Amino acid sequence: MSAVLPRLLRGLGPDGASIDLAGHLDLWGALPAADPGRLIDAVGDAGLRGHGGAWFPAATKWRAVAGAGRRAVVVANGAEGEPVSAKDALLLERLPHLVLDGAVAAAEAVGAGRVIAFVPSRRRARLREAIEARRRARIDGMPIELAIAPDRFISGQETAAVSFLNGRGGLPTSARLEPVWRRGVDGAPTLLHNVETLAHVALIARFGPDWYRQAGRPDAPGTVLLTVTGTDGRPTVVETQKGVALGAAVGSIDRRRCRGVLLGGYGGTWLDPDSANTLPVSEEAARAAGATLGAGIVALLPHDRCPLAETARLVRYLDGEKADQCGPCVRGLTGLAYELEALAFGPRVVGDAGRRIEQLCDLVEGRGACRHPDGAARLVRSALRVFADEVRQHQERGPCPEAGAAAWLPTGDDGRRRPSPRPGPPRPAGMASASRFR
Ligand code: SF4
Repeated sequence: MSAVLPRLLRGLGPDGASIDLAGHLDLWGALPAADPGRLIDAVGDAGLRGHGGAWFPAATKWRAVAGAGRRAVVVANGAEGEPVSAKDALLLERLPHLVLDGAVAAAEAVGAGRVIAFVPSRRRARLREAIEARRRARIDGMPIELAIAPDRFISGQETAAVSFLNGRGGLPTSARLEPVWRRGVDGAPTLLHNVETLAHVALIARFGPDWYRQAGRPDAPGTVLLTVTGTDGRPTVVETQKGVALGAAVGSIDRRRCRGVLLGGYGGTWLDPDSANTLPVSEEAARAAGATLGAGIVALLPHDRCPLAETARLVRYLDGEKADQCGPCVRGLTGLAYELEALAFGPRVVGDAGRRIEQLCDLVEGRGACRHPDGAARLVRSALRVFADEVRQHQERGPCPEAGAAAWLPTGDDGRRRPSPRPGPPRPAGMASASRFR
């Protein structure tokens, strides 16, 4: 594994400042002339997967959309609904031309006639400025549209994004019945990618698949952006090669300071610190461990917070963010939130709370149009497993003293929602480069 970092974050420079179009072209050069079939093959040979959370092979989507003609649409999805994620915000604020290059290259490769940047309102000004600079420089063969994503947890979900862009309220639909690559924006085949995926495309288009694979491992090539919230509560965006141990990528996970590690976001998985320390950074390794890398969220829970209280707050938040259209999700998530709150904060738990919570997980899993309830169930099951001692103590003696502490993970109602990217000095870590923000 050769040390070739930073890649995506190279454009930040020592002070982490935003890069304009001239600086971007100085650093990376212009996109090569479009060679559609070649770029699709290059993306496939690179082994690029979607970095939005599903980790689906990118070239498979591209081949499904290619051939639909100019009707096809490419969507750069920067909605980033996870409150604790900031890697997409960092890319959009600081390195927007890498994302837009990737979107335009993808559109040319699949023969699409439209590119839409789908971003939260807080990124509107920066994206508008970047799109206007490209229009003045006439570097793109098609106009780039800007659409503002609603500020909701599920906004970035593929079918929810397409529903919103079609003016239908932004509710998820079953991708099994109608995948967006067949019928998406305005009924046209739609290639929707997370903005980090497109930033990788921009570099693969320039340097090819062999270069991409120089980082990472043969079974998990390339690099990935992680949003790491340390035990001090300070979030940092880190770029690391896939396949390195998570502890090395984030600068060590110390059991004496960290009680548990949340991997993959609010629909992700709690891990005990020792397992997290040695877990290779890749979706494949995470799945083998019963977890998911998701959108690259890593949060280190300190010892002065109660993991059951944090989990209860997250499930109450997820319950509030559901789209209220599938029965098991509507009723089941509310019941799950109630049971967890009773276990975390209630004076005394009646009966076997763990068993009731498992039954509610069974009720919601695999029953919704989207994966929202599956994520909540995965989070809860992992909490019962990793924090089994805490579950027993709460069950027998009531809430621990830490359960009364303030919320540590942001959930939107505590004034800590959504840190905006703010660059800081690069960390001296050997295998990762970083940009700090708050
Ligand atoms: S599963 Fe839940 S969040 Fe997803 S569409 Fe159905 S009600 Fe909405």
